[in-house]
Amino acid sequence: MRELFDKTQWIRDQFPVLKRKVHGHPLVYLDNGATTQKPQSVIDRVTRFLSEEYSTVHRGVYLMSQESTEFCETVRSTIARFVNARRPEEVIFTSGTTAAINLAATALGKSVVTPGGEIVITQMEHHANIVPWQQVALATGATLKIAPIMPDGSVDLEAFERTLTPKTQIVAFPHISNVLGTVNPVAQMTAMAKTVGAIVVVDGAQGIAHHPVDVQAMGCDFYCFSAHKMYGPTGVGVLVGRYDLMDQLPPVQFGGDMIETVTFEKSTFAKLPAKFEAGTPPITEIIGMGAAVEFIESIGWNYILGHDQAILNYALAGLETIPGIQLIGTAPGKSAIISFVMDGVHPHDVGTILDMEGVAVRVGHHCAQPLMGVYDVPATIRASFSVYNTESDADGLLSALQKVRHYFQ
Ligand code: PLP
Repeated sequence: MRELFDKTQWIRDQFPVLKRKVHGHPLVYLDNGATTQKPQSVIDRVTRFLSEEYSTVHRGVYLMSQESTEFCETVRSTIARFVNARRPEEVIFTSGTTAAINLAATALGKSVVTPGGEIVITQMEHHANIVPWQQVALATGATLKIAPIMPDGSVDLEAFERTLTPKTQIVAFPHISNVLGTVNPVAQMTAMAKTVGAIVVVDGAQGIAHHPVDVQAMGCDFYCFSAHKMYGPTGVGVLVGRYDLMDQLPPVQFGGDMIETVTFEKSTFAKLPAKFEAGTPPITEIIGMGAAVEFIESIGWNYILGHDQAILNYALAGLETIPGIQLIGTAPGKSAIISFVMDGVHPHDVGTILDMEGVAVRVGHHCAQPLMGVYDVPATIRASFSVYNTESDADGLLSALQKVRHYFQ
């Protein structure tokens, strides 16, 4: 345990922003579920590209454009290795998780989903994995079905299985819940969905920085994530999809880079991955995302998984000492995302008082309004931890919460 937290200090030193003060207090940054801070290596890589190497991709006969293309394609291969995709062409660059899910949903909505078909999601979804499927159901005449969760925040697997029928065409669920911290058994749920022949889309927004991802072992057809939640820049993310399936799907956005030939009468489309990447990609951000993957790999999954559980247990033990706290999401093996409510205090008041102590947490519905309804709360306080959070960050949270308790006796 001690060794774990010593390494955390070494990691922490790589994040310049963590040295700043907020309202006169050292920053305690616990909103990593929303977005993570950036290590110096990512900042440096982006700065170097913008100051010394910047140019567009694909269209250039000149050296700098060829270099930019090479940088981006190297990142594609790096990501393919990182998530164990079958080939780099299975990696589609998008602007983030939301765009990746929308891309999959729109393409599947145009080609796979039919009237009377069924799309299954769970009660724990982020809006990004609800609304696109609602739109597909509306456009196609399919039905959206919701698989329930248990009180501890794990998916009720028996009920999930019962939700699946021969009419199920799509099953979509998160790898890790952004509110509950539940780590879903992706391979098991995917195997269940496959018994009825459904296509499986995994929302990996929270999974990608917290758990090793192996899309082949998971068996899913799509895995979606954002770079900004894994120490990379905003504005870029990935849709990883099975090549043979994506090859059959129609393009969703049309324009430059995604075509093979264009005449005024008709156009033909490029092969994967270009077919799904219309327009100039977020070149700088893609390159930054590559540095973010290297950062994660430099830390290693053993450390990440060990630290996640150690900081979770430390913070949970501390929370037990504060009266009137109700945890939302207690599934076994959960990730270090802690949602809770405090008796007699509105989450927004908690968030404001914590901010005055330099503690940044998220309060609200966390883009999961239906899930708030399941737990019958309007909002929660969410402390989400990352590789650079220390015991002293958890102590900062706990002592700020003690103050809240004191004000609202
Ligand atoms: N899905 C989950 C589980 C999330 O936590 C988030 C972001 O909070 C998203 C999807 C959407 O990610 P982005 O806003 O980066 O597209």
